[in-house]
This record gives sequence, C-alpha cells and structure tokens, in this order.
Amino acid sequence: MASAPPLETGGFVGLPQPPSYEEALGPQYQGPVYPPAYTKAADYPYPAQSYNQPYQPTAHSTTSPIVSVQTVYVQSGVVFGDIPVQTHCPVCAQIVVTRLEHTSGTMAWLTCVGLFIFGCIYGCCLLPFCVDGLKDVTHHCPNCNSVLGEHKRL
Ligand SMILES: [Zn+2]
Repeated sequence: MASAPPLETGGFVGLPQPPSYEEALGPQYQGPVYPPAYTKAADYPYPAQSYNQPYQPTAHSTTSPIVSVQTVYVQSGVVFGDIPVQTHCPVCAQIVVTRLEHTSGTMAWLTCVGLFIFGCIYGCCLLPFCVDGLKDVTHHCPNCNSVLGEHKRL
C-alpha cells in the first residue's frame, strides 16, 4: 500500500476567506440591541396577608408594685373619731378599746400654711403639729397593735 496522496491543501489558499460575523451583519446592524424593558413591575405582588393582622397590645403590663401596706380593718357600725372606741379586733379576736395615735395630716399642714401666710413665721406656724385636734387619728389595737380604723380631719 502506497501512502495516501497528500491533501491538496494548497488549493484552498486562493479561495477568499469567509466573511467574519461582524462583516456578515453588515450595515443592517444598527446599534446595540436593548433588552426588553420590564414594563410590568407589578408581576410580583407583595403578600397582603402580612398587613392584615391588627396590632394587639399585650395586656400583661399590669406590673403593680408591691407595696407593704398595713392592713386596716374597717368595721361597719363603729365610728372612729378622736376618742378611743370599744371595738372587736379581728386579729386577736378580742373586744378592745382602741389606742389612739395622732399623725400630722392634711388639716395640720393646711393650718400651718395658713398661719405662715398670715405672718406667723417665727415658729408659730408649727403649732398645728402640736395640737392633737388638728391631726389625723389612727386607732390601734392595744394587744396586737394592728390598725383598726382611721379618722381623718380632711
Ligand atoms: Zn388585736
């Protein structure tokens, strides 16, 4: 077997080269081609159900401060004035005569301010704090010292 005849590659040399891609487009190619504009931006609707839930404030904010208040046993039928009264103590379950404790309340302070306005500025305005008749009265049990009632001037 003789070797294959050589390919006549030289015959292609004289042929004109095929036009390139740019040349094939020719004058018909005018400017860049813009992509299609996104005219319908509303094709992606937002989920509306996320806004349908009304705002519900939490009602768990009732954090009442813990205040230690001495329990006052107000009994019906017993009038707590500025004199000791005989009453029933619910704590020690006995009939007791209340012990009075005078505290400077609103009446004493108003009298003090009134005296200060009218010129009693040299200690005279402090006299209401020494007069039991102007103070509030608190009734205590003489046995257990619990507060059984109060009498306020104002
Ligand atoms: Zn008592």
